[in-house]
Parts: sequence; C-alpha cells; structure tokens
Amino acid sequence: MKIMFNKADVIGNEYNYIHEAMKNGAIKGDGPFTQKCHQFLEQKLGSPKVLLTHSCTAALEMSALLADLQAGDEVIMPSYTFVSTANAFVLRGAIPVFVDIRKDTLNMDETKIEAAISPKTKAIVVVHYAGVACEMDAICEIAKRHKLLLIEDAAQALGSFYKGKAVGTFGDMACFSFHETKNILSGEGGALCINNEKFIKRSEIIREKGTNRAQFFRGEVDKYTWVDLGSSYLPSDMVAAFLFAQLENMDTINHKRLEHWYKYHTFFENFEKLSFIRRPFVPENCLHNAHMYYILFPSLEARTKCIDFLKEKGISSVFHYVPLHSSPAGRRFAKVSGDMTITEKYSDRLLRLPMYYGLSGDEMAQIQSSLTEFFTAYSEE
Ligand SMILES: *Cc1c(COP(=O)(O)O)cnc(C)c1O
Repeated sequence: MKIMFNKADVIGNEYNYIHEAMKNGAIKGDGPFTQKCHQFLEQKLGSPKVLLTHSCTAALEMSALLADLQAGDEVIMPSYTFVSTANAFVLRGAIPVFVDIRKDTLNMDETKIEAAISPKTKAIVVVHYAGVACEMDAICEIAKRHKLLLIEDAAQALGSFYKGKAVGTFGDMACFSFHETKNILSGEGGALCINNEKFIKRSEIIREKGTNRAQFFRGEVDKYTWVDLGSSYLPSDMVAAFLFAQLENMDTINHKRLEHWYKYHTFFENFEKLSFIRRPFVPENCLHNAHMYYILFPSLEARTKCIDFLKEKGISSVFHYVPLHSSPAGRRFAKVSGDMTITEKYSDRLLRLPMYYGLSGDEMAQIQSSLTEFFTAYSEE
C-alpha cells in the first residue's frame, strides 16, 4: 500500500455544484458560487469583506498593492515561510526583512520584531505556521504603536483561532490558500480577507484589472473605466463551485484532520520522552486546524534516514521550507535582522507526515508500525 503525503479528496457536492455552475451558462468570475463563498467566509470569519482570488499568492500580491509601497520600503516577515510571502512584496520594489522564529511554534518570534523596525518599515507580515496562530496580542500592539500595516499570511490557517478570535481577522488584511495541499481546497485558489474597511473599495478595483467594474455592476457609477493599478485576480465560478462544496464541509474536514493529528501526537508521546524526536507545540490560547503534523529530529542525518526508511515502506514524508534568507533570490532581494539560528536549525530537522482528510485507519496503522520499526532500529545503533 503506497501512502501519499497529500491527497485531494472530494467530499460532498463538488460535482453537482460544478454541473450547476455550467448550467448557469456563465462561468466567469464573481458568479453565484463566488458570491456564496464570499458570504460563507465573511460570516464564518466575522470579517467585513472577503474576495476570492485564484491563489494565496494572488491575495498576497493584492495586499502588497494595497499597502502602497515605494521602492526600498521594508516589510518584516519570517524567513521560514513559502516564497510567495516575500515575492509579493519584492514585486512592488519593497525589501523583505527577515526575523527569526520561535523554538516552540516555529512562528515568527514576536520579541525580535521591534529590533527589525527602521524608518523604512511599512508593514509586518505574520505567517501562522501549521495553522497555529502567532502571538497576535503582542504583534498587534507592536503594529499599532509603530503605525505599521499588519498582514496575515493565513494560507495554512483557515479554521484556526487565537484567544477565541478567528485567525485572519487580526491584520488589516489576511490571505488564505485553497491550494490542494491545504485543508480546504479547489486545486488552486485563495482569498483576501479585508478587515480594515478603508481598503475595501480599492481591493475590488485592484482585483478587477484596475477598473471600477464592481461599482458599475452595483449601479454606483454609470460606466466602468481604468482608475488604478490592478490585475486579474478572480477565479472562474467553476472553481468557486468546487470550493463551495468544500467550504460547506469545512468543520467536518478540520475535525477529521484533528483526529489524525491527535493519533500522531499520542503515538509520538513516548518517542519524545526518549528524545528521538520533538512533537509540535500548540499554545493554550490557540485552537488549530490540524493543517500539518510534523516532528523535529535531533539532526539532519536522522531526518534523512527517516525519510529514506519511510520511502522504502511506500510512505511519502517531506521536509519543508528552505529558509528564504539562504535562497539565491532571498540573498538578492531581502535583508536579515538579527541571527537566523532557530530558522536554520529547525528547517533542517523538520519532517512532515501524511495528512489529508481521507487518511484511513489502515494507512495510519501502517505509518505508525513503520515508524516504530525505524525508531527501534535507530535506538540500537
Ligand atoms: C501555500 C502557501 C502559500 C501559497 O499559496 P498558493 O495558494 O499556492 O498561492 C503562501 N504562504 C504560505 C505560508 C503557504 O503555506
């Protein structure tokens, strides 16, 4: 039995809704299913405005446009993240300034943010790694005190909470992903959540190729025209139809993933006591969405051995980010604030295990027995 790291599971009405969208005779963006997704997400998150995009990368690019950055402006973010977090701002001529991560959650270390602030700083971008929220009380306070824009890369965190408030509603804006490796998916897809109402009007314009078309369709202007910068960021209504079927099952999907997550967590308890690995840490304030189950090895060598061992057993496990500050483009376009000790140490040691809605009991049993075999061999070395 081969076990994939990720699988795009169809869960409910995906086929029916796509069929329905096609029968509507119009499948361009902002059709009926797109509207349904917008309403669902606005209500679920408690945000004044959500706009679907064709990816989280697109939502990040929209947020960089909304931030109105000038060449040389600085944006604080972790180096331990996906390239799009940084690229979106580099495209606007801004400079990412990387801050190290916390040892426990692997989220950006909020105590190191202020040292990275300069007169050129315009925004802070947080990434809620593995769906576990950053320390938002401290970060919101810093952003407010220094009058900086706060943007959440919540790509992995739909359905997560910090102190009872939905992740994605803390920043001026937040970006979600529906890429097939995320909890809720549409193949490729994303959403921009706009919490600061002063950005709503411009976000609609940027998303519609720099035109006031959204206002035109609402009858607020009598013709539509080019009014600002923009691009094409909206997905087809067919994609939204698939997505809506997934969103309707959001709680079911996240609940199932949490079950898998706790099975891993219980299984690894003893191996953590034996110091073979370290398990993920979730602060008490955080309700997470089980986006990921990872373990941390004591060394790169141990991780490599485990990946190879599992591969022989037909189980696909993967490492994660190559820190952006050490990448060729990161060295060219970004700066580092302070040292990157934790980022470098942990990115070499982290291993992600299979996690998807349809992961079966048999598959979980096979993963666990293979890992037991691995750790037994490992302890005898
Ligand atoms: C997946 C991911 C993205 C990119 O999402 P896309 O929808 O593929 O563009 C950005 N940031 C983080 C942290 C991610 O995990």
